[in-house]
Amino acid sequence: MKGERKNLAILGSTGSIGTQTLDVVRAHPERYSVYALCANRSIDKLVEQALEFRPEVVCIADESLYDALKTKLSSLNCKIWAGADAIAEVVTMPSIDVVVASMVGYAGLRPTIEAIKAGKTIALANKETLVVAGEIICDLALLHHASILPVDSEHSAIFQCLVGEELNEVEKILLTASGGPFRTFTLEQMQSVTAADALRHPNWHMGDKITIDSASMMNKGFEVIEAKWLFGVPVEKVQVLVHPQSIVHSAVQFTDGAIKAQLGAPDMRLPIQYALSFSERLTSDFPRADLFSLGSLTFEEPDLQRFPNLGLAYEAVRRGGNIPCVLNAANEVVNLAFRQGRCGFLQMSDIIAGTMSKAEFVAKPTYDDYVATDIAARRIAEQMVNSK
Ligand code: MG
Repeated sequence: MKGERKNLAILGSTGSIGTQTLDVVRAHPERYSVYALCANRSIDKLVEQALEFRPEVVCIADESLYDALKTKLSSLNCKIWAGADAIAEVVTMPSIDVVVASMVGYAGLRPTIEAIKAGKTIALANKETLVVAGEIICDLALLHHASILPVDSEHSAIFQCLVGEELNEVEKILLTASGGPFRTFTLEQMQSVTAADALRHPNWHMGDKITIDSASMMNKGFEVIEAKWLFGVPVEKVQVLVHPQSIVHSAVQFTDGAIKAQLGAPDMRLPIQYALSFSERLTSDFPRADLFSLGSLTFEEPDLQRFPNLGLAYEAVRRGGNIPCVLNAANEVVNLAFRQGRCGFLQMSDIIAGTMSKAEFVAKPTYDDYVATDIAARRIAEQMVNSK
């Protein structure tokens, strides 16, 4: 109900989206209270957050850190849990209204499924969940009347453009991309870029995994798939535009030719807050985009030659079944290998493509098929990394 205080469970609370969600909570303490904080293994940051927000439950995925967490939070009267099973249980607790799903990668799938089954509202930042198992997620959300609200800035923009247009057909989704740090690089230059180069994103400060995905444009490929599931449009209707200023966060073209876009400063707190407050807009003092000082906004077509990941994402959806899950698993392997210096920047796409052609195809995967596919695809991709 309008104006009611909501209890949040934040999965991945110490990451980039998690900490910015807590900024939103700090700005609106009358609207949001933190019921549960879950982190992977950043124990010191988690302890600091728990001492400030005093949640009912604190959970750490890495079970080896349980004793240390318990000791550090002994002054707090809260439940302390550890492990993936615990996180999957936390999200179902009756007092929780909204689950902010901002874990990194495949690990976000299971708790998101459990939260949907418990009928929670999901503020979804973990796009891998929809890439891997979009069909299962959407079916479950319908069945359990769970709303999924996008946190990803592009999808928040599309969602905002669609408010009030429920009866109108979408002709095209115009999904914007910054183009990342290598937008103007030649293939030859891209051959020798390092993880440190890739981690210097021009417009957004994000976690390491997604920053590498942005540099390789796999992030945009994932977002095409995410848009398909969130808005029920075929990927052929999703067009990617490179827009280096990151001011137009995305747009929707309707069948009368009208294009609606959402603009704003590149600041994730805005889409996070909108997902939490929908359908209200809360007043904020986040920085405003100053169109006068920007002067011009530019748009260009993505170059699939230099950024084949985008094409691989479309191909994964066209083949369907478990192939998007293979795409994600192979990408998680090469993304980490690239950060560790075990794989070159351009090799990442080759290995993903190779894994997609080698993995066993399952046309109608169940949840267990996804789990098996993820393991098998990681093994194939890992072998290819090691044999390079
Ligand atoms: Mg995005």
